[in-house]
Amino acid sequence: MPLYEYELCEGNCVVCGGHFTLRRPLSAAPLTNCPACRKPVRKIISSFSSPIKLKPLSISDAKKAGFTVLKRLNKGEYERQ
Ligand SMILES: [Zn+2]
Repeated sequence: MPLYEYELCEGNCVVCGGHFTLRRPLSAAPLTNCPACRKPVRKIISSFSSPIKLKPLSISDAKKAGFTVLKRLNKGEYERQ
């Protein structure tokens, strides 16, 4: 069964943490609500499997989204920005 990743459309959830993964059969109906708290969720589409090219985020956008941005210094060395 494929593993799907979901996040809450808004707000937080103490049950699922607002971000969770679920294994679901391909035949299952799209999940629209958190199974734990019933808040609306959206599926996160992995950039590895999606044919859609997303516009690259700026570093500040990525940071706002909670990413740790790493700058490549040398082979095998990265610096936190
Ligand atoms: Zn939840």
